[in-house]
Amino acid sequence: MTFVPPGSGWPGDPARPDTPVAHDPAEVEELAETSGTLGELTARQSVCRACPRLVEWREEVATVKRRAFAGETYWGRPIAGWGEDRPEVLIVGLAPAAHGGNRTGRIFTGDRSGDWLFASLHRTGLAVQETSVHAGDGQRLVGARMLAAVRCAPPANKPEPSERTNCLPWLAREVELVADSVRVIVALGGFAWQAVWPALRQAGYALPRPRPPFGHGAEVEISRGGTPAHLLGCYHPSQQNTFTGRVTAEMLDTLFTRANALRRL
Ligand code: SF4
Repeated sequence: MTFVPPGSGWPGDPARPDTPVAHDPAEVEELAETSGTLGELTARQSVCRACPRLVEWREEVATVKRRAFAGETYWGRPIAGWGEDRPEVLIVGLAPAAHGGNRTGRIFTGDRSGDWLFASLHRTGLAVQETSVHAGDGQRLVGARMLAAVRCAPPANKPEPSERTNCLPWLAREVELVADSVRVIVALGGFAWQAVWPALRQAGYALPRPRPPFGHGAEVEISRGGTPAHLLGCYHPSQQNTFTGRVTAEMLDTLFTRANALRRL
């Protein structure tokens, strides 16, 4: 099997067998715009087939698998947004890992980046468990929601700019549907920082010009309908960044402690 059929019992699967499927960028736009609820939107995200290169890659990985996970069924579908329906903190990542989210069906779940991220979120009160291993493991975000800028695992962890553009309507609509409660947006890495600006604009945020550069701890005041919010930059806890010490546990904790302080302003 190349992917988990929608509505077949996978924990947290938002889709059903009759969930409409986007086959090209125009259909992504239409299905995202007409999603009236987060439930409808995440279901549609999770069955999208609009990027041929990524669909082929995610399904090939799900079929071939990594030896350590050879006995497991891989999700093999896009990773939908996950977390609270009325979050105060939005965490935007790059894209799922081939043997992480693409295997477990949940964002940042089952990979090294997620180990670092969830440990910090737990220490700072934003997640109930320090690990996130598989869908249905009891992990839950507290006052937070996670999204990926590109929802399918890309070869070499590098999405094409066109794939980021294709996926933007899913991101923008999700940001719009939770904007009333959101006070802080954390962009993990420069790619997510770039991706989130047009999504914020489409969701009705007033943004400064020119766009401030990405950096760890970068902080930008934004607003929507007169309600202030903050965009924070955070180095991505990728294996390379954590291995080289560019990102440390302390840096992540400081960042999410700051996010907690800002959401309570
Ligand atoms: S990356 Fe986004 S737009 Fe492309 S197939 Fe995956 S979910 Fe659809």
